[in-house]
Amino acid sequence: MEKAKGKVISVSESLVGVENTHGSVMNGEVAYILIEDGKRLKSEVIDVKQGNLVYLQVFEDTSWMKVGDDVEFTGIPLSVKLGPGILGSVTDGLQNPLYELAKKEWFLERGMVVAPLDETIKWDFSPKAKTGDTVTGGSVLGTVPEKMFKHKIFVPFFLQGEYTIEQIVEEGDYTIKDTIATIKDSSGNTRDLTMAFDWPVKQAMPFHERSVPSETLPTGMRILDALFPIAYGGTACNPGPFGAGKTVLQHSIAKHSRADVVIIAACGERAGEAVEIFKDFPELIDPRTGKSLMDRTYIVGNTSSMPVAAREASVYMATAVGEYYRKQGLNVLILADSTSRWAQALRETSGRKEEIPGPEAFPMYISTLISAFYDRAGVEILPDGTKSSLSIIGTISPAGGNFDEPVTQATLLSTGAFLGLSRELSDARKYPAIDRLESSSNYPSLISDDEVRFLKEMLHEGKSIASNLILMGERGISNEAYITYQKVELLDAVFLQQNSFQEIDGVTNPERLRLMFDMIRYIIDADVHIDVKEDIRSHFNFIRQAFIDWNYMKLDDPNFEKQKTKIVNLVKQKVHVKENV
Ligand code: ADP
Ligand code: MG
Repeated sequence: MEKAKGKVISVSESLVGVENTHGSVMNGEVAYILIEDGKRLKSEVIDVKQGNLVYLQVFEDTSWMKVGDDVEFTGIPLSVKLGPGILGSVTDGLQNPLYELAKKEWFLERGMVVAPLDETIKWDFSPKAKTGDTVTGGSVLGTVPEKMFKHKIFVPFFLQGEYTIEQIVEEGDYTIKDTIATIKDSSGNTRDLTMAFDWPVKQAMPFHERSVPSETLPTGMRILDALFPIAYGGTACNPGPFGAGKTVLQHSIAKHSRADVVIIAACGERAGEAVEIFKDFPELIDPRTGKSLMDRTYIVGNTSSMPVAAREASVYMATAVGEYYRKQGLNVLILADSTSRWAQALRETSGRKEEIPGPEAFPMYISTLISAFYDRAGVEILPDGTKSSLSIIGTISPAGGNFDEPVTQATLLSTGAFLGLSRELSDARKYPAIDRLESSSNYPSLISDDEVRFLKEMLHEGKSIASNLILMGERGISNEAYITYQKVELLDAVFLQQNSFQEIDGVTNPERLRLMFDMIRYIIDADVHIDVKEDIRSHFNFIRQAFIDWNYMKLDDPNFEKQKTKIVNLVKQKVHVKENV
């Protein structure tokens, strides 16, 4: 079929109005604007109006574009190339490899085109299917080693119906451009397959079989794993004011969570933030494997010079890649920081299109888009019975830290855990500043339901004693209440707070979490008898210091057990022992 054509009739920053002069145009397809010097600027059709008017959002700097420029439509939706070589790469929202571009020139030159996946790498392909086999979209043709994983080479998922393998290559080294198999449909049409294929990023990859998220995804962050857990295949909404610790939390989870593959969608909050990640991450060592953390990471991000439209593309690029690695049988985690950038991009474009605005000028359909995005997370049971998952944690930076705004509210309704960051806690440097009382999760914790309930009751009680303390002062409350207050303060200081920048305290594995919780429980349950408030305070200060010292010791430290005994002895000193009753 002949491709559609058009001419630019209006330019409003990244939104371009086009008159469709030839052929028919479909929403979501990619179009190129041909500018004077022969370059082609990539864009996406975002609206097809009546009377031949088409709106494009352009992914590159539009300042060289003029009314009258020619437009070529491709008939193909915005897509990602899926195949071996994604892990360890850093790209922008259009899958332009940023390192590749950086090698040539520091900035992405207008209209520059680089292959999304390295086409020169030879992958060691081992066939798993043979000539004569019947296959369909999603069937496994073979595998190649990619970093620490066996990367499955699939018949492209978009192929419907049954095919017969005409020929398949022998074990050997091939690039993603080489034909590795030829398949034939029932009417005898053949099709050559390579190790990579395109997938439209905005289209959810269908689940083979969907299952409910029911297993905790350990993050190494105590307050999450104990109180507000994430699940494999689950979703979490992490709103917080500027500087409250969203990015630090995401980076900690990227390093320490028990996901196989981590995808970071960095829609930079501050100017240069994404660039920092591009530079910093490749130098990090994976604490679990001792190899580069990038071996199981893919980073997609926007540089601050990118126009509005490219920001939303990053989120979709991350999601499609996440779904692909879930099809590989892995547990994938997407960290999107910050989804507010994406929402702002939608707001700007909607404003330029003069659509009827919803609350706070966000488009009416924003909640539909947000829920469709989080709905792509989930647990998948693959044809061979493997359970795999895609989890998503998205940060939001609502203006003024007000959680009542549309993006936070829509995300809250679409996710299974709410991790609200509190300005009050971050000002007090109580990190992670996740609100202890407002946050919630529907997923199972690493400790029992009863234990979670116990912690939450303690936190509520501590809060109410704290307000009495403010109102009435120390003398206004009983010693008993003051002891409870000190216990909750200690729980917060040694268990809920965690220093992400300290190697040992920065990550708590499930085994250690159990030990720590049991110790907390022991301290809280101890029937302490002290008559003077000052002595109560100093008693708990001693315990707190001993506990913090314990937190900074490795599990296999020879002094670990000694320190544990020390804490127990400190507690025992003031316990009223009821003898011979
Ligand atoms: P946001 O992304 O919400 O704007 P950041 O994640 O950049 O905020 O955090 C701001 C600062 O707060 C960090 O630079 C760091 O000093 C401090 N911080 C946040 N979380 C922690 C933590 N868990 N441990 C220690 N310091 C933290
Ligand atoms: Mg941030």
